[in-house]
Amino acid sequence: MSEWQKILKDDSIATLDKLAEKFGHDVIDVEALRPAFENFQMRITPSALDQIKSVGDAMWNQYVPTVQELDIVDGVIDSLDEDADSPVPNITHRYPDRVLFLVSPVCASYCRFCTRRRKVGDPEKIPLNQYESAFEYIRNHPEIRDVIMSGGDPMMLSDRRLEYLFQNLRAIPHVEIIRIGSRITSHLPERITPEFCEMVQKYHPVFMNTHFNHPDELTPRVRQALDMLSKAGIPLGCQTVLLKGTNDDPKVMMKLMHELLKARVRPYYIYMADQVAGGEHFRTSVQKGLEIIKALRGWTSGLAVPHFVIDAPGGGGKVPLLPEYVEEITEDSVTFRNYAGERYVYKQPKQGGGCATEPVDVPDIVSIAAGKSGSRKAKEPAAKNGKVPRRRRSATG
Ligand code: SF4
Repeated sequence: MSEWQKILKDDSIATLDKLAEKFGHDVIDVEALRPAFENFQMRITPSALDQIKSVGDAMWNQYVPTVQELDIVDGVIDSLDEDADSPVPNITHRYPDRVLFLVSPVCASYCRFCTRRRKVGDPEKIPLNQYESAFEYIRNHPEIRDVIMSGGDPMMLSDRRLEYLFQNLRAIPHVEIIRIGSRITSHLPERITPEFCEMVQKYHPVFMNTHFNHPDELTPRVRQALDMLSKAGIPLGCQTVLLKGTNDDPKVMMKLMHELLKARVRPYYIYMADQVAGGEHFRTSVQKGLEIIKALRGWTSGLAVPHFVIDAPGGGGKVPLLPEYVEEITEDSVTFRNYAGERYVYKQPKQGGGCATEPVDVPDIVSIAAGKSGSRKAKEPAAKNGKVPRRRRSATG
């Protein structure tokens, strides 16, 4: 057994009794938590435990089950309808040129808001012995140029099994890039070993999408693991889930994005939490997400601003959401506000002037930008250099 497997097995907390022992029977209401523990599995690794500063804090909420999970509300089991887009076991083929390849049924720690909780932790639902039909499917679909390994957490597999996967994928000429979706750097940084870092370099380009939701997750040990991956030539991105009570605060998100960049991780997505059964208490409003993006865009470097998306319920795929900046588009000009709420006008190229001369459907573009039908008029006149005088400022800044 390797060192990281021993840490996972011997030092993680997986029962209510052990949790109470660690944090104190006088602090934890054991009887109130018992129904949740009888229904859901829990595991918290030493790294995730280190990140919990106090009972009930932003990190605690991500890992410790509560009775609220027993409330189904309007969530559904397979909220993204992934199973409907699964042509063979372990594969979801939703977008034109890429597939999701579920390679591992388990995770180091179990997140309470997990979209795939219907499968994660159950080896029968993500079988390890059915890779061949997945390889066959990818082989027979030359349009697939990008394979995203997920699960569960792919990094819970041994190096030997991961190498087997890499070898088989690299033997398919049209697979250009391999991505690993993994929360292991936060949960079990010990898993990032020199041996893994050496092995993976034979199969580049390999990307890793990490998952961090709060700046407290970036401990010195976690940074060390991220550094090892960067040095192994793996471009690192981060997916973050907007979670009520954890990171639904522009200041927390700003800090998280900055800490990620310092660790050479590029913020990639902030997701609205999915409408998954038992996860209702983690969801906040879409307006809150837009407020956060507005508080990032322009106020900090563009590198620190991820895409804000809803993974459309029922299998529609990721849809980006943007705060409203454009106020009016005409054939002559575009009127918009900048990050600070100041209004500017950009002149369109003259028709036939050599650049963008295609006629544009202005009302349609405005309706997309504004999320409404029909064109809207800018209420204030343009001034010199395209900037409109600040007679009135947007209430939203
Ligand atoms: S690490 Fe990812 S797949 Fe595993 S429980 Fe957390 S969100 Fe789900």
